[in-house]
Amino acid sequence: MMRIEIPAKSMRFPGKCVCCLRPTGETRELRKHKFSFWVVLVLQRTLKVKVPYCAACQRHVDWAKGGRMLGVVLSGVVNVVLSLLLGGLVFMMLRFANPSIDENPDVPRLAVLSVAVVIAGLLTWRRLKSKPERPVDATHTRENEAVELISFTKRSVRLRIHNDAFARELLDMNAQASVV
Ligand SMILES: [Zn+2]
Ligand SMILES: [Zn+2]
Repeated sequence: MMRIEIPAKSMRFPGKCVCCLRPTGETRELRKHKFSFWVVLVLQRTLKVKVPYCAACQRHVDWAKGGRMLGVVLSGVVNVVLSLLLGGLVFMMLRFANPSIDENPDVPRLAVLSVAVVIAGLLTWRRLKSKPERPVDATHTRENEAVELISFTKRSVRLRIHNDAFARELLDMNAQASVV
Protein backbone atom coordinates (compact mmCIF):
# COMPACT_ATOMS: atom_id res chain seq x y z
CA MET A 1 0.00 0.00 0.00
CA MET A 2 1.30 3.45 -0.94
CA ARG A 3 -0.08 6.93 -0.32
CA ILE A 4 0.59 9.28 -3.18
CA GLU A 5 0.02 12.99 -3.54
CA ILE A 6 -0.44 14.11 -7.10
CA PRO A 7 -1.16 17.52 -8.71
CA ALA A 8 -4.86 17.64 -9.60
CA LYS A 9 -4.50 19.33 -12.98
CA SER A 10 -1.81 17.23 -14.61
CA MET A 11 -2.82 13.83 -13.26
CA ARG A 12 -2.11 10.93 -15.66
CA PHE A 13 -2.77 7.23 -15.19
CA PRO A 14 -1.21 4.13 -16.76
CA GLY A 15 -3.50 2.36 -19.27
CA LYS A 16 -3.96 -0.67 -17.07
CA CYS A 17 -6.33 -1.84 -14.36
CA VAL A 18 -5.29 -0.73 -10.87
CA CYS A 19 -6.43 -4.09 -9.45
CA CYS A 20 -5.22 -6.76 -11.90
CA LEU A 21 -2.79 -4.69 -14.07
CA ARG A 22 -4.34 -6.00 -17.30
CA PRO A 23 -4.51 -3.36 -20.07
CA THR A 24 -7.87 -1.61 -20.04
CA GLY A 25 -9.62 1.46 -21.41
CA GLU A 26 -12.37 1.25 -18.80
CA THR A 27 -12.45 3.59 -15.83
CA ARG A 28 -14.12 3.78 -12.45
CA GLU A 29 -15.12 7.07 -10.92
CA LEU A 30 -13.97 7.81 -7.39
CA ARG A 31 -15.73 10.59 -5.52
CA LYS A 32 -14.90 12.53 -2.43
CA HIS A 33 -17.03 15.20 -0.77
CA LYS A 34 -15.64 18.00 1.32
CA PHE A 35 -17.78 20.27 3.45
CA SER A 36 -16.88 23.70 4.68
CA PHE A 37 -18.95 25.81 7.04
CA TRP A 38 -19.27 29.50 6.40
CA VAL A 39 -21.45 31.25 9.02
CA VAL A 40 -24.82 29.63 8.23
CA LEU A 41 -23.91 28.19 4.88
CA VAL A 42 -22.60 24.72 4.26
CA LEU A 43 -20.50 24.53 1.16
CA GLN A 44 -19.88 21.23 -0.48
CA ARG A 45 -17.12 20.50 -2.89
CA THR A 46 -16.89 17.21 -4.70
CA LEU A 47 -13.92 15.82 -6.50
CA LYS A 48 -14.31 13.10 -9.09
CA VAL A 49 -11.34 11.14 -10.37
CA LYS A 50 -11.54 8.49 -13.05
CA VAL A 51 -9.09 5.66 -12.48
CA PRO A 52 -8.40 2.78 -14.88
CA TYR A 53 -10.40 -0.23 -13.70
CA CYS A 54 -11.33 -3.17 -15.94
CA ALA A 55 -14.94 -4.36 -16.15
CA ALA A 56 -14.24 -7.72 -14.45
CA CYS A 57 -12.59 -6.03 -11.47
CA GLN A 58 -15.35 -3.43 -11.12
CA ARG A 59 -17.72 -6.34 -10.95
CA HIS A 60 -15.97 -7.97 -7.98
CA VAL A 61 -15.71 -4.60 -6.23
CA ASP A 62 -19.45 -3.92 -6.68
CA TRP A 63 -20.25 -7.45 -5.51
CA ALA A 64 -18.12 -7.02 -2.36
CA LYS A 65 -19.58 -3.60 -1.62
CA GLY A 66 -23.13 -4.89 -2.14
CA GLY A 67 -22.71 -7.48 0.64
CA ARG A 68 -22.16 -10.56 -1.58
CA MET A 69 -24.78 -13.33 -1.10
CA LEU A 70 -26.14 -11.73 2.06
CA GLY A 71 -26.80 -8.61 -0.02
CA VAL A 72 -28.77 -10.70 -2.53
CA VAL A 73 -30.88 -12.26 0.25
CA LEU A 74 -31.55 -8.90 1.92
CA SER A 75 -32.44 -7.23 -1.37
CA GLY A 76 -34.72 -10.21 -2.12
CA VAL A 77 -36.64 -9.60 1.13
CA VAL A 78 -36.87 -5.86 0.42
CA ASN A 79 -38.03 -6.55 -3.16
CA VAL A 80 -40.79 -8.91 -1.97
CA VAL A 81 -42.04 -6.45 0.68
CA LEU A 82 -41.99 -3.48 -1.72
CA SER A 83 -43.69 -5.31 -4.57
CA LEU A 84 -46.40 -6.62 -2.21
CA LEU A 85 -47.05 -3.08 -0.96
CA LEU A 86 -47.19 -1.85 -4.54
CA GLY A 87 -49.45 -4.79 -5.47
CA GLY A 88 -51.80 -3.90 -2.58
CA LEU A 89 -51.95 -0.34 -3.86
CA VAL A 90 -52.74 -1.49 -7.41
CA PHE A 91 -55.48 -3.77 -6.06
CA MET A 92 -57.03 -0.87 -4.11
CA MET A 93 -56.99 1.28 -7.25
CA LEU A 94 -58.65 -1.52 -9.24
CA ARG A 95 -61.37 -1.77 -6.60
CA PHE A 96 -61.87 1.96 -6.66
CA ALA A 97 -62.15 2.02 -10.45
CA ASN A 98 -64.40 -1.01 -10.59
CA PRO A 99 -66.34 -1.71 -7.34
CA SER A 100 -67.89 -4.85 -8.84
CA ILE A 101 -64.50 -6.55 -8.21
CA ASP A 102 -65.71 -7.09 -4.63
CA GLU A 103 -68.19 -9.69 -5.86
CA ASN A 104 -65.32 -11.96 -6.82
CA PRO A 105 -62.06 -10.43 -5.53
CA ASP A 106 -59.93 -13.59 -5.55
CA VAL A 107 -59.04 -13.59 -9.27
CA PRO A 108 -57.72 -10.00 -9.50
CA ARG A 109 -56.09 -10.40 -6.09
CA LEU A 110 -54.24 -13.49 -7.27
CA ALA A 111 -53.26 -11.79 -10.54
CA VAL A 112 -51.82 -8.75 -8.75
CA LEU A 113 -50.04 -11.01 -6.23
CA SER A 114 -48.41 -13.16 -8.94
CA VAL A 115 -47.23 -10.11 -10.91
CA ALA A 116 -45.71 -8.70 -7.68
CA VAL A 117 -43.90 -11.97 -6.90
CA VAL A 118 -42.57 -12.28 -10.46
CA ILE A 119 -41.23 -8.69 -10.40
CA ALA A 120 -39.56 -9.28 -7.03
CA GLY A 121 -38.05 -12.51 -8.35
CA LEU A 122 -36.70 -10.86 -11.51
CA LEU A 123 -35.11 -8.00 -9.57
CA THR A 124 -33.43 -10.41 -7.16
CA TRP A 125 -32.28 -12.67 -10.00
CA ARG A 126 -30.73 -9.65 -11.79
CA ARG A 127 -28.75 -8.88 -8.68
CA LEU A 128 -27.64 -12.52 -8.32
CA LYS A 129 -26.46 -12.42 -11.95
CA SER A 130 -23.98 -9.67 -11.05
CA LYS A 131 -22.01 -12.25 -9.04
CA PRO A 132 -18.46 -12.44 -10.47
CA GLU A 133 -17.82 -15.54 -12.57
CA ARG A 134 -14.49 -16.32 -10.95
CA PRO A 135 -13.37 -15.83 -7.35
CA VAL A 136 -10.81 -13.12 -6.71
CA ASP A 137 -7.41 -14.87 -6.94
CA ALA A 138 -3.80 -13.77 -6.52
CA THR A 139 -3.78 -11.91 -9.86
CA HIS A 140 -5.97 -9.29 -8.19
CA THR A 141 -4.89 -6.75 -5.61
CA ARG A 142 -7.96 -7.09 -3.41
CA GLU A 143 -11.69 -7.73 -3.62
CA ASN A 144 -12.56 -4.20 -2.57
CA GLU A 145 -11.41 -1.03 -4.31
CA ALA A 146 -7.66 -1.11 -4.95
CA VAL A 147 -7.47 2.67 -4.92
CA GLU A 148 -9.11 5.18 -2.58
CA LEU A 149 -9.39 8.93 -2.69
CA ILE A 150 -8.17 10.11 0.71
CA SER A 151 -8.38 13.89 0.41
CA PHE A 152 -7.99 16.80 -1.96
CA THR A 153 -7.15 20.48 -2.07
CA LYS A 154 -7.40 22.94 -4.96
CA ARG A 155 -3.97 21.91 -6.08
CA SER A 156 -3.53 18.26 -5.31
CA VAL A 157 -5.14 14.90 -4.67
CA ARG A 158 -4.10 12.19 -2.24
CA LEU A 159 -4.66 8.58 -3.20
CA ARG A 160 -4.21 5.37 -1.24
CA ILE A 161 -3.11 2.73 -3.72
CA HIS A 162 -3.10 -0.88 -2.60
CA ASN A 163 -1.27 -2.09 -5.69
CA ASP A 164 2.40 -1.08 -5.29
CA ALA A 165 3.34 -1.92 -8.89
CA PHE A 166 0.61 0.40 -10.16
CA ALA A 167 1.65 3.08 -7.67
CA ARG A 168 5.26 2.98 -8.89
CA GLU A 169 4.16 3.35 -12.52
CA LEU A 170 1.99 6.27 -11.51
CA LEU A 171 4.98 7.92 -9.85
CA ASP A 172 7.08 7.38 -13.00
CA MET A 173 4.38 8.95 -15.21
CA ASN A 174 3.77 11.98 -13.01
CA ALA A 175 7.00 13.78 -12.27
CA GLN A 176 5.39 16.00 -9.63
CA ALA A 177 3.74 13.16 -7.72
CA SER A 178 5.23 12.14 -4.39
CA VAL A 179 4.87 9.48 -1.72
CA VAL A 180 3.34 10.88 1.48
ZN1 LIG B 1 -8.80 -5.60 -13.51
ZN1 LIG C 1 -9.54 -7.33 -9.58
